[in-house]
Amino acid sequence: MIKTFKHGICTILLGALAACSHQQEPVQQVIYLIGDGMGFGAVSSLLLSEQEVTGFEMQPVIGLNETTSANNYVTDSPAGGTALATGTRTNNGYLGVDPDGNPLISVLKIAQSLGKKTGIVVNTVLTEATPGAFYAGVQSRKESYRIAEQFVESGVDVAIGSGLSAFINRPDSVDLTAALIEKGYDVYLDWNSVVRTQNERFVGILPMADVHRRNTTSKDAGAADGAEVCLAAQLASQQEDASEKTDCDPTTYLTQATAKALQTLEKNSPNGFFLMIESAIIDGYGHNNDSEGMILEMKEFDATLKYLVKYVNEHPNTLLVVTADHETGGTAVGYRSHSDGEPVQLTFSTKGHTGTVVPIFAYGKGAQAFGAVLKNTDIPQLIEDLMR
Ligand SMILES: [Zn+2]
Repeated sequence: MIKTFKHGICTILLGALAACSHQQEPVQQVIYLIGDGMGFGAVSSLLLSEQEVTGFEMQPVIGLNETTSANNYVTDSPAGGTALATGTRTNNGYLGVDPDGNPLISVLKIAQSLGKKTGIVVNTVLTEATPGAFYAGVQSRKESYRIAEQFVESGVDVAIGSGLSAFINRPDSVDLTAALIEKGYDVYLDWNSVVRTQNERFVGILPMADVHRRNTTSKDAGAADGAEVCLAAQLASQQEDASEKTDCDPTTYLTQATAKALQTLEKNSPNGFFLMIESAIIDGYGHNNDSEGMILEMKEFDATLKYLVKYVNEHPNTLLVVTADHETGGTAVGYRSHSDGEPVQLTFSTKGHTGTVVPIFAYGKGAQAFGAVLKNTDIPQLIEDLMR
């Protein structure tokens, strides 16, 4: 993504004043939260299930994101991620390259060129399509070994996710964790090491069971606060005897990994940072047409969102953008006879993705620019514009 969007924004969007006014004072910190497959049905299921005020209801700016890929109304995750990361639509299956196979420059790379630290937090493998779109360029998402090599070269300061096999069980027998260590990273393969580290450059490649850890109490009000207390206890324990307090089981992986990444990226970052977070499993529940799973996953997502709202409130020069790469499942709250207190039941129209528009939520500095009907490709261009 190279072309600047400044003048276009100023003339065509309702958020023109906000988008233009940043030019004197760029946004320092950007947090880009992507819910894979999170459409209106998913958000509706949370709003109907949650008694507390959700993080979504705290968002002052709401827009629409039209998620088409270059060759299909219905995008897949590689093309959807590529659009959200690079501002260019590509063919389904392609990742970080245009339809002719030319590599694209992501907004994360642009953040690096502006002197910002960068981070990636996912509850899936680090070489999956959505995170991969921010640092890789391949013609097939299946090239996970190649994507892992590109991750090593990415310059990302902090990454937490899963997917060790692409780094060590490779056809070329190269151990990419050693390559990361050579580049100055600490590499951690368990959660407790991630929690304890003070290193400003690290990669956590955790077991899948860790990154899929669900907050079993998420139905209870205040679950997000509980997660924060747990992390705070763990972080405090670093100063004393770290080995004693790790029984504070981190049950909300996404929120806690996000908190750890933010805490790390904040250090020695005079030009701010760019953090991309993906909640990947909403998509899986959509594919499986699993109503209960999707609602639980949305509660997890909401816990992270609430945490981020609080973070932005405490760090005013921060922009938070929340959207999805596409909708999954044709998810809706269809009519049925609900008795009192019965959980919301979603209905699904497909096992695949759909081309239905998805929501955008924005909070913090420069947020007004996202209150419009946008193409997926507009979003990273707007972020770039606000960072400059
Ligand atoms: Zn999917």
